[in-house]
Amino acid sequence: MPRATEPSVQRRKLLSEIERLAEVAIFGTLSETYRTCGSAGCHCQAGGPKHGPHLNVSYRGEKGKTTGYYVPKGAEAATREGVAAWQELQACLRELAELNKERNLRQAREESDSR
Ligand SMILES: [Zn+2]
Repeated sequence: MPRATEPSVQRRKLLSEIERLAEVAIFGTLSETYRTCGSAGCHCQAGGPKHGPHLNVSYRGEKGKTTGYYVPKGAEAATREGVAAWQELQACLRELAELNKERNLRQAREESDSR
């Protein structure tokens, strides 16, 4: 039976994955909105289709206040990837924290064994 991956190898893999994801991560929730414009006589003001979808990011800022911003077309792909990267980052951090916990408990056991 193959041995389980060494904790140190797993740790290094996680840390490099975390570094990669952290470089691109975006914090927030995506939503798409449709808007009316300011041009007189535009179809959007006469019950026709509105303009969009426009991508928005919203998130809780300091003091728990919800804030957000409009994402220009040119930044849409990177923003979508960034939000996905944030989610993956959380999963990687949780996995790393689990390794940290196991390491701490193992160290405590070894210390008490050697006493
Ligand atoms: Zn319009």
